[in-house]
Parts: sequence; structure tokens; C-alpha cells
Amino acid sequence: MKFGGSSVKNTAAIQRVGKIIKQNGERKPLVVVSALGGITDQLIEALEYAEKQNSAKVEEIVNRIEKRHLNLIEALLSESENTVKLKEAIHTELEKLRILLGATEAIRAQSKRISNAVLSTGELLSSKILNAYLNTLGVTSECADARKFIVVSYHGDEVVPQQKTIKKQANAYLQRYFDQYDVTVTQGFIAVTQQGAPATLGRDGSDYTASLLGAALDCEEIQIWSDVDGILTADPSIVSEAKPLESMTFDEACELAYFGARVLHPATIQPALENGIPVRVLNSSRPQEKGTVIVAENSPSAGQRASRVKSIAYKENITLLTIESSNLLLSPRVMEQIFMSLYRMGKKVYAVSKSATKVSITIENGTDQDNLIRELSKQGRVHVEPNKVIVTVVGEDMRSSHDLSWQIIRMLDQAGISIELISQFADQISLTFIIDETDIEKTVHLLHKRLVEKEVTTEAGNVQYWQ
Ligand code: ASP
Ligand code: MG
Repeated sequence: MKFGGSSVKNTAAIQRVGKIIKQNGERKPLVVVSALGGITDQLIEALEYAEKQNSAKVEEIVNRIEKRHLNLIEALLSESENTVKLKEAIHTELEKLRILLGATEAIRAQSKRISNAVLSTGELLSSKILNAYLNTLGVTSECADARKFIVVSYHGDEVVPQQKTIKKQANAYLQRYFDQYDVTVTQGFIAVTQQGAPATLGRDGSDYTASLLGAALDCEEIQIWSDVDGILTADPSIVSEAKPLESMTFDEACELAYFGARVLHPATIQPALENGIPVRVLNSSRPQEKGTVIVAENSPSAGQRASRVKSIAYKENITLLTIESSNLLLSPRVMEQIFMSLYRMGKKVYAVSKSATKVSITIENGTDQDNLIRELSKQGRVHVEPNKVIVTVVGEDMRSSHDLSWQIIRMLDQAGISIELISQFADQISLTFIIDETDIEKTVHLLHKRLVEKEVTTEAGNVQYWQ
């Protein structure tokens, strides 16, 4: 059971989480917890001030973090010997934090190891508090240190979890906890390198921790508790009719996460997927809701009454680059050079389309665009269109729908919305296209209305339209 920052952001939220965990006690859950909502951001801010040697600001942030945790303890726990011990443990972590930030000030730079240790503080604090709170609810629980088993290595800046080592160490280390306690609490996000240096799994990494541990320990199910009712048919801030999906496949969830849906860390899916473990997305403010379960494959009965398009995602701040060169006709090396330049500049490519003499690529808007364009100009004429949005529609039942792309093109054309680039493969469960930023609300509304709300697939697989 993974609880995100929003699920543990204050006293009431933690009380709700306590209740949810207690109710699931007999399933012997391993609880993975994030830092209290907003804490990781504050730690990042503290590191930035420390680098600039602004001690006053650093101290102010650390004091604020300390006060928030101590206030929480006051509100959640009554005076007892255990509470005194907890406060001491919190104090020790904060002293370490002060030392680490002091070191950052002294060297006027963010060392990777020190920064990772600083960022780990949020989860070290939240896990101790949640564990203590569970004990007061009469749940037998203990806190296990994730740095004993979430082992990673760095490939350049990229963090790669060592899944075999994690499996070995998590099983060995946690067995004692599982034998002795109903509930084991551990920290999300925090990791350690093979050499024992502090590491993290990257922003929002707690989902990843849950998935890695679920796979390593061969869990029944991985529950991701956050503040939404599951994975929705569209962004509810645009479409008020958006509804949670009962179930979806791993492939659908990957596409959605990759193309902008904000529910899951994309890499989260991977370890669970490979081990066939279902992932359930739930709302800790409304635990009675069923949430969305993500499974390896559609069961034959699932999705029968669903529309072909299950969900619509979008990603803003996209630049469309088109490189035009007759050399593209002559040599595959041109493509190699283009992608090498993008790779060297750390640009993630979202959708690509190629013709004889042109290649169009979508990347995120960036401040270093000028450098990139200078690089790419060596390969041909570069045309840049910033402020675009990638829209993706996703659904397993789209595989055999060869008419969907023209339906979408016609639908948007009639609404006066122009599409810049469209990509769909044969037998593909997602369709991606690029539009202007200004058209996003209109587009998502229209697609949701026509393709999600008004369409259901009958049992015979025919598409029907509701009016
Ligand atoms: N606390 C970390 C973050 O804010 C990890 C997480 O919440 O998943 O990025
Ligand atoms: Mg978070």
C-alpha cells in the first residue's frame, strides 16, 4: 500500500490513512509512504539557498519543516514514552539535515550524494510518524529502512534499480518484520547505491518503490493511494464529466502516463507488469470508491461495455521541430545524427513522423532550444513551432479501429481545429496528434463527448453511438 504526499499531508489525512491500513491489517500490508505533501519541494529549496550560502533562508526552511512535523505529532499522539522517543528520532534526522545543508553551504555546490541525503529526510520523517501513529491505533507495526534493500546504480544521471539485488535483500531483510508485525512501514523514493551512497528514485519515486517491492516480494496486489478516484477518462479540470475507469491494461496505463496523465510515474508500471501483479489506484479521501485496477491483459469480459477510446491524455509545453534535408533521401546517418544530438542534449522525443525529405519531432519546450537548433541545423533546415500540445487517446479496443484516425481528423476539422502531426501504428492502442496550445480545452471536450461519453462497444464488437 503506497500513500503519496497528499494522503499524509496533515493530521486528518494521516488519520484517514491509519484507518485504511488498520482495516487491511489482516492482509499484512507493506506500507510505502511519501514525505508529507510539499516537504520534498521545501528540501529542494533549502538546497538551493544553501548553495547560495543564504544561511538565514536555509534555517528558516528547516525550522518550518521541524515545526510542521512536531505539530503533527502533537495532534496525532498523546504524551507517552514512545512519543518522546519519536520526537528524539525526528530531532536526530533534523540535526543531520542541518549538517548536510551546512556542508552544501561550505562547498557552495550541490554534491549529488549530499543532496540525495537531504531529499531523503522527508520520507524518513513521515515513515516514523505514520508508524508511531499506527501503534497507537493498536496495529502492531514497525518501520523498516528502505536503504537496506532499494539498491540502485547510476548510468550517467539515470538511476537504475537493481531488481535482482532488491529482490534478494528485500526478502532477506523484511522477513523478520513480516513474521513479527502485522504492518511494516517503509519509505518511498529513498534508495542506496551498491557502494552504500545515498540515492533517490527521482521525483514522485514512491510509486516506483511500491512497484519494485511489490515485484520483489511477489505481492497479491499493489495499491497506489492518492487523492483521485482512480485513472479517469480525461483530466477532470477540463472535463467535468470525466469518470474513473474500472480497469485498464498495463499497456494502456503506460501510454497514458507517458503522454501526460498525472496519476502514475511511468516507470512504476514496469516491474509490476513484468511480474503480472495488478496495480490498484485508489483515493485515500474516498476509500469506499473502487478505484482503477491495472492488469496485465484485458480479461475477456472486461471492456465489453466500454468505448473504444478509454481515456484522453495531453502533454503541454511541446515544441514541434521539423528538419528538412534532401540528404535524408541519401543516408540513414542523418537520422542517426539528429537523434544523437537530441540524446546528447537530454531531449526526450515523444512522437516522430518522417517523409522522404522531412522529419518532424516533438520535444518539450526548453530554455536551451537555441543550442539544439544550432546543432540540428547541421543536418538540414530546421523549422520550429513552440507552444504545442500532444494529445493521446488510448484504448485496447482501438487496435482494430482503422477508421478512428479519420474520424478524429474530421471531427476536429469541423470544429476548426487543425492537427499538425498524427501518429498511429497498425494494431496500436494509442493515437497521438499535435495541436495548438489554444485548442486544448475544446479538443479534449469534443473527443470526450464524442468518443468516450457517446460510444459503447456492443458484445458483438460493433460500435454504437448514444445520443
Ligand atoms: N517525496 C518525493 C517527491 O515529492 C517522492 C514522492 O512523493 O513520490 O517527489
Ligand atoms: Mg509525491
